[in-house]
Amino acid sequence: MTYILQVLIHTPAHSNLHGPLSYTSELPLPMGSIVKVPLGKREVLGVVHEKAQDLKTPGRKDSEIKYKDIISHVAGLDPLQADWLDLVQFTASYYQRSLGEVAIAALPTQLKALTGEQIQKRLKKWQSTHAGPKNQASPLVEGRGPAASPTPSPEQEKAFQLIQNNDGPFLLFGSTGSGKTEVYLKCIEALLSKEPQAQVLIMVPEINLTPQLENRILQRFQSSVGERAIAIMHSELTPAQRLNAWLAAHQGQARIVLGTRMSIFTSLPNLKLIIVDEEHDPSYKQQEGARYSARDLAVYRAAQSKAKVILGSATPSLESWYHSLDQLPVASMEQTPTPKRARYLRIEMPSRIGHASLPQLQRVDMNFQPKYTMFSPPLLKAIRQRIENSQQVLILLNRRGYSPVLYCSGCGWKSQCNQCSAFKVFHKADRTLRCHHCGDTQKVPKKCPVCSNQDITMLGMGTERIEETLLEALSDLSNAKSERIQIMRIDADSTKTKGSLQAQLDRVHSGEVEVLIGTQMIAKGHDFRRVTLVAALEVDGALYSNDFRSTERLFALLMQAAGRSGRDVHFNSSQDCELWVQTFNPKHPVFEFLKNHDYAGFANHQLLERQLANMPPFCSQALIKAESRSQENAQKFLLEIKALADSILHAMVKSGQLPTLEHILVFSPIPMNMRKIANLERAQLLIESQSRKYLQSFLLELKLSMQLKSRDFTSVHRWVIDIDPHTL
Ligand code: ADP
Ligand code: ZN
Ligand code: ZN
Repeated sequence: MTYILQVLIHTPAHSNLHGPLSYTSELPLPMGSIVKVPLGKREVLGVVHEKAQDLKTPGRKDSEIKYKDIISHVAGLDPLQADWLDLVQFTASYYQRSLGEVAIAALPTQLKALTGEQIQKRLKKWQSTHAGPKNQASPLVEGRGPAASPTPSPEQEKAFQLIQNNDGPFLLFGSTGSGKTEVYLKCIEALLSKEPQAQVLIMVPEINLTPQLENRILQRFQSSVGERAIAIMHSELTPAQRLNAWLAAHQGQARIVLGTRMSIFTSLPNLKLIIVDEEHDPSYKQQEGARYSARDLAVYRAAQSKAKVILGSATPSLESWYHSLDQLPVASMEQTPTPKRARYLRIEMPSRIGHASLPQLQRVDMNFQPKYTMFSPPLLKAIRQRIENSQQVLILLNRRGYSPVLYCSGCGWKSQCNQCSAFKVFHKADRTLRCHHCGDTQKVPKKCPVCSNQDITMLGMGTERIEETLLEALSDLSNAKSERIQIMRIDADSTKTKGSLQAQLDRVHSGEVEVLIGTQMIAKGHDFRRVTLVAALEVDGALYSNDFRSTERLFALLMQAAGRSGRDVHFNSSQDCELWVQTFNPKHPVFEFLKNHDYAGFANHQLLERQLANMPPFCSQALIKAESRSQENAQKFLLEIKALADSILHAMVKSGQLPTLEHILVFSPIPMNMRKIANLERAQLLIESQSRKYLQSFLLELKLSMQLKSRDFTSVHRWVIDIDPHTL
């Protein structure tokens, strides 16, 4: 018999091929089967999308069409399950991408690269090393209980009970060091011992955070579920490692999958719990291809798969915070708050384990410091004191390199990148000027390239420069071994080679280092026991940025950075911890909330502002971004799109699909904040709506028309739709 299969394959985002393609097969392969099919001259990976149908079914209009046969199907590999297919379907439609693209991108690259036969071999090999009948996950071994789990604090116990007894989604809102991770582990433990097949997905924002958590998970669970039942998924794995981890998850052997953003698409047939750690982190948002939010997809996936989901953070995203509120914030106590439905159950853990106190905020008003001061005298003095008391200091500056701009006082020349709307950054270590956007690198000029003036000035500071400055300022200090003190700089430059970040962190943990300087990389997740002072330099940019989320991000960054300190009760008791901020705006409300460690106050304050300005989460947004050699062409294209959008809106109102024109706002095209990168001019068009549903159906129509329209615009290199964009 011949069956007809609908197969999802990767078709480029704006190609004419939409939806699945039809192929024939001798077998009625079930939905979700992984197959290899011919596409032109190539053999490509496909996923069977619908139930196979008999080609000879009476009434089939296409029974005369000669479809191509599939090449092979990977026998032994379980089909992908309906809830996985549903997840990719939702992702494709919500983020306006093609279904095939999303489905295939969600699978490990080796499934694409290898032939069906090769995959089969790999599967056999994998099965032989992962003994035990298929889908028979190892149950928790009696007697060999998990490695020492601490007695939970009352807050942890309460959180655990709430999660056991409710459906969620849960927002676990706990201070840094309140023991959130411990709550995750307890929930995992309870689930795995109760359900012998259950699988857990734990997501973390960045791979440099994983080693610590990975160790804790291994310590806790390898004796019970076995090391093989713990799979790690992130982009630094080799393709072969990734395929193995994926197989373990897909075939049901992996009980715990730990991974970054992309792991949300892991096939997990028995998924029962999803944990999104540091759920506020921007790296959960994919910035290429389908621009999905792995956090939002986690909530969706959990609902579809009847799994629980825990979003954890000390500084939740405003979106998640909003979803956990049962009334809208009010500006003053006199107002009566409007009730609303809370979509998430918020669980609070305000206390730190061991009652370590959160650091006190010290503000240095830079208006009273000499111009170009890097370290104000009071901060420098505080740093010295900490080091003299054998404590560690962490300094945060979100800018790598030595100096962000070179400047000629003779003619006003600046180290502008020719290809981008950005300056080239001076890196002293290799004496280069480097553009951090396009990568263009040149030797640093000895004199001004325009007027030959030899006196070139460095404007501003980067991590390299503060490292040098501090080393000099503290040159008289010595450590316990009477050696010169050590300053470690951790940023994207110092951690280029594989393993170097871990090596650097190890040195910090072992206490070899007195001062740690770094970009936001060091502000997250790490547990620096002996750090008692954290200082943030140059934070003002974020307060006045035209990006409406920048204050939220700054607040989270500073709270997280502050959370790195005071984790060791021993050190904490001897001296209070401090968070220092050097700022020209010490009275800014952000710092008042920060001083009181008052995330809730800050979030409500922000929500009020967002509500007034009608910004997310009070509306949904989509950005259409276009790139072209000229700004004019990029905007011209977007203007056409705007005209298209307007006519679509009118038609939708006329047909009753949309109540009024005002339900969807289409703004005028403007240049993007970063207007030019690598010689491509960038422009954007903002679309907003109170209703996500209306926005979705409008965007779908718009996308289809845009695909036609864009063919007339050969000067436009690329255009994308970014749903729920992170930056405007
Ligand atoms: P968070 O994830 O909220 O930052 P962690 O779970 O990492 O907090 O806990 C902070 C520290 O306190 C860790 O070193 C952890 O081992 C320890 N800890 C957590 N819970 C307990 C507990 N109930 N008893 C003792 N120590 C704990
Ligand atoms: Zn000059
Ligand atoms: Zn550049």
